Parts: sequence; C-alpha cells; structure tokens
Amino acid sequence: MTSRPIADRRPVVVQKYGGSSLSTAQQIQNIAERISQRKADGVDIVVVVSAMGDSTDELIALSDAVTNGQTPDAREMDTLLSTGELVSSTLMAMALKATGYDAISLSGVQAGIKTDAVHGSARIADINTDRLRLELDRGRIVIVAGFQGLAESGDITTLGRGGSDTTAVALAVATEAERCEIYTDVDGIYTTDPRLTNQARKLAEIGFQEMLEMAVLGAKMNPRSIELGAVYDMPVYVASSFSNEPGTLIHGGEHTMEVRKAVTGIAVDRNVGKITVRGVIDRPGVAAGLLQPLADAGISVDVIVQNASSDGTTDFTFTVAEANVNQAADVLGADSKVQHTEIVEGSNLAKVSIVGTGMENAPGYAAKMFSTLAGIGANIDMITTSEIRITTIISKDQVQKAVQALHDAFELEKSE
Ligand code: ASP
Ligand code: MG
Repeated sequence: MTSRPIADRRPVVVQKYGGSSLSTAQQIQNIAERISQRKADGVDIVVVVSAMGDSTDELIALSDAVTNGQTPDAREMDTLLSTGELVSSTLMAMALKATGYDAISLSGVQAGIKTDAVHGSARIADINTDRLRLELDRGRIVIVAGFQGLAESGDITTLGRGGSDTTAVALAVATEAERCEIYTDVDGIYTTDPRLTNQARKLAEIGFQEMLEMAVLGAKMNPRSIELGAVYDMPVYVASSFSNEPGTLIHGGEHTMEVRKAVTGIAVDRNVGKITVRGVIDRPGVAAGLLQPLADAGISVDVIVQNASSDGTTDFTFTVAEANVNQAADVLGADSKVQHTEIVEGSNLAKVSIVGTGMENAPGYAAKMFSTLAGIGANIDMITTSEIRITTIISKDQVQKAVQALHDAFELEKSE
C-alpha cells in the first residue's frame, strides 16, 4: 500500500501524555476516551506516551539492585528503560481498540526514529515516517512509545529523562502536524509560580524564547523540546490531561493578545549557590583560569560578576547550583592556578528574573524592577541581563515578597 497523496491528507495532530496521566489502567482508559474525542474532529492523530507513573524510576531502581549500585551497562540500560514506554503504548492501543477505534502502537524503532549513539541522552538525527504515514492512511490512531529511538549500530537508545516531549515535538515536525499538544499534570504556563502568589495568571500564549527562559517554572517542560519547537517553528500547546480547561500555546509568531505587555512572567530559581574568589590579580586569563577547572569537573557556572578594585586585584563572583557550592570551592582551592587570597561560599540565595520579549529596546524595566525590590527591602546581590530577561540574585527568604511585589508592579494579573 502506498501513502495517500499529500493533497488528500487530513491534518495531523500530535498529542503527548505524560506518565502521571497514565498511572493506572483506569487513567489509560480515560485518556483513550480523550483521544477518541479528538479523532472525531476529523484529524489524523499521533499519540506519544511516557511510561506509566513512576515506572521509569522503578526500572532504574531495579538496575541499581542487580548491579549492587554499580553503573549499569549503558546499552542494556537504554533497552531496559525503553520498555516502560512500550508498556504504556501497547496498553493505550488496546484500550482504544476495545472501545471500537482502530489503533496501533509503534516502538521508537518502528516509528523510524533514528538517533545518535549517545546512550542515556541520545539526540534524534532523523525520522523516517513511512510506516507512520501508512498507518495514518489506514485510518488508524498511531500510538508511539516516547523517549526512544535506534542508533545506527542497531541498538536502542533513550533521549534522557523527560525525553517523550522531545519525541512528540520531533514527530510533529516530521509529520508536518498543525501543532504538538502536550497534556500533563499542570494545566498551562503561568505568569509565575502560583504557589508564590494567588495573583499568578495562566497565559493564553507565550513565545518560544520567553518559554525557554521560564522553563524552570512549574510547566515541567523539557527545554530540548521547546528548542526543537523554536527551530522548526512548531507550535506547542500545553494543557491539563485531566480537564478541558484551555492551556497555553507556546509559539513563534507575534503575540496577538498580549502584544502590549512588555513583561510576560517572573521566573524563580531557588537552587542557587555563590562563590566569591577574593584578591585575584587583575590580568588576562584570570576568568578562564578560574572557570576551566570547574568546567573540567562538570560544574556549570551561571551568573558571573567581576568587581575591579583600585589595588590591581579583583573579586570574582559566580553562582552554581546550590548542591555544587562545596565541590566548586574545593575544586578551585585544589586546582586553580589563579592566585587568590580567599574563597568564600554563599548560600540561601535565589534567582528572580522578569522575562518578556517586549522589554527589548524598551528602557526603564530594569529601573522599575530594582526600585520594586528596594521597596520591599530586598538587597540585590548580583544582576545579569539578556535581551529578554533581567535577573537578580536576592536572599531566598525574600523570594515570595519579591515575586508578589514584581507581579503587582508589572501588572501581570491583567491580561492587557
Ligand atoms: N519515561 C521517561 C522518564 O520518566 C521519559 C518521559 O517521561 O518523558 O524520564
Ligand atoms: Mg516519566
């Protein structure tokens, strides 16, 4: 059977359901019901599923148990982990068929997903959609096991934790879908973490770049999937898998509804530690000399500030994930060839950022942010900016007050 000519094709919609929406047989039946409702819209549906509930964690625990905690063989590990999504995809196909819908499950391999050979964090290289097209043309709902593919070696790979989002966006691109719909246990993207202020408002839409900056928020979106959406301009709709409330559309087009709003949201990261290296001689190569040992140790450095002083020395301050502070200080103490007088560790910090493409070329936002923080008595420890973000490092104790004040100051509770 050959594929239908392109002009005759129905629009394709790719939907992805997360593991927390597929924890039990009953939940799988509920989701099957939602899928069949969408099928009634006359679209071709590709569904990507994650493994049921915590089953990926359970498989990892089993691998730890049989190896007495040694690092398991990477090839076997990927094949093992891929089975979690095989369970959910096959059960979903069965559930759909049991209610009278024609459905078929495909593993990543069967769906033509080719990856590089990096076990545990493989990247999708190419997708051969022939089989998928054939099944859609047969009128079937196709359920694809997320998070997995096939390396050229013939071995199964996985895409890294949370990788089913990436599978979904990649399949949407490959099938030229209208959009990729991600259904999850959060119901959209909010102006800020709703646990910090009851003024937080669900956004109807947000740009890809803004979403990347906000990715740390409750959305639990895999940043790689957002990057992929941005590169191929594939709109990603995030909504609840439990309700029919409207969610948030992440897209690359012009904002239509919220175009006048310069600040879209406030992102908060509480996982911040700080290192200050004092008394560094101010000469070329110093920053590289300090940061290279950290890179070699696999420690990512985030905000960096260097303060020049008059006596020819400088203080060099940067942030790392809070859990890495001790290790970073040890590495610098032991390995840095850069002369210094003292290494000071800082904790109890958080990163609060305002994000919005509308801030580009519009002055005054930084001043407003800093005066708002001053107004609640928050001392700003460090500042960094990008074109669409202003980030401050402040004390963790002041995060809630800061978010509430900023949310007010930038009127984020209002949709226009
Ligand atoms: N099951 C995998 C994980 O838990 C992939 C996914 O959920 O997207 O990380
Ligand atoms: Mg999962």
